[in-house]
Order: sequence, then structure tokens, then C-alpha cells
Amino acid sequence: MVELQPLTHAPGWRMDGRVKTREAGSAVAGSPAREPDTDRLREQLDAYMNEHGLRNTEQRRVIVDTFFEFGAHATVDELLAEVRKADSRIGYATVYRTLKMLSESGVVDERRFDDGITRYELADDDAHHDHLICTECGFIQEFEEPLIEELQERVAARFGFSLAHHKLELYGTCQRPGCTGKKER
Ligand SMILES: [Zn+2]
Ligand SMILES: [Zn+2]
Repeated sequence: MVELQPLTHAPGWRMDGRVKTREAGSAVAGSPAREPDTDRLREQLDAYMNEHGLRNTEQRRVIVDTFFEFGAHATVDELLAEVRKADSRIGYATVYRTLKMLSESGVVDERRFDDGITRYELADDDAHHDHLICTECGFIQEFEEPLIEELQERVAARFGFSLAHHKLELYGTCQRPGCTGKKER
């Protein structure tokens, strides 16, 4: 099996697979995931930081802003490379701790796919999505599929489970230009 490569800084990882145009609640079959409500997440973060007496330091602000801009499935290293464009003094540990804070505040979800690398994305309580992952180039497509969601509920109910959450990861190869796994058709 091919190792899933970490995403690079190619334009590909910037909010990949999310669309701005879709209204909340209007997901159709197999559609790309909607963007999370960043205003609400910002408010949630402010409230969390106030509550826990966390200061909004300059470095934290740069890291948080950069993450909100480039956030989907970023690794610590990827985010570090981005924030250093704004402030070269920011170190790995600060980025890591800031992401932990975002995660603890519920603003960010941690994802670990088959390669075991932790990736961070904005939480999406209102717009749950799942992932298609290319094992050749590492591209990640987010999608929403109401039918799959409904089937999962039905399966759970059949076994007397009430679902709290789930993770669905589909692995294969994508059709993006430049992907070595691209199949001729
Ligand atoms: Zn690919
Ligand atoms: Zn995602």
C-alpha cells in the first residue's frame, strides 16, 4: 500500500473541497462540504479565551488568523510554514499549543487519517462532512451525503445504538491533474 503523503503547500490544501456558495441545510447528494460559520467560531473562541483567562497575544492572533484563512486539514508543519510568512519568530511549540487551545475550545476538530498525521480543520457542528482521501497525492475532498447519514442512523437504530458521532473515510485515487494515481479513461 502506498503511504499517504503529507499535504504540501500547493494551493491544493487551502480549504480544499469546500464551497462558499451553498446555503446551510441545502446539501444535495454527494455535494462538496459547506464552509463552516467562521463568525460563530470566532465568537466561540473569544468566549473560551475570556473564560480561561487566555490572553490574545500577537503571535496567537497571527496563528489563529492564518488558520482561519488556510485551515482545512492543515498539519502543524504546514501551518507553521504559513505563519512564518507573517512572523518568522513564531516557533513550532507555539503553533502546536495554539492548535491545542483551538481544539479544546471546540473551534477546531483534529483528524487523523491512515498516515497517522494529525490534521486540523474548523469544526462544523452545523454542517457535518466526511472525507475522500487520495492515497497517491494526499488530496482530501470533503463531502456531504444525506443518504449516507440516514443509512448510518438506520444501521445504528437496528442495533439499538443512538449515534453520537462517526468518522467516514473513503480511500482511493483522485482525478486531479498531476496526481500519479490518475487513471486513464
Ligand atoms: Zn490524487
Ligand atoms: Zn475535513
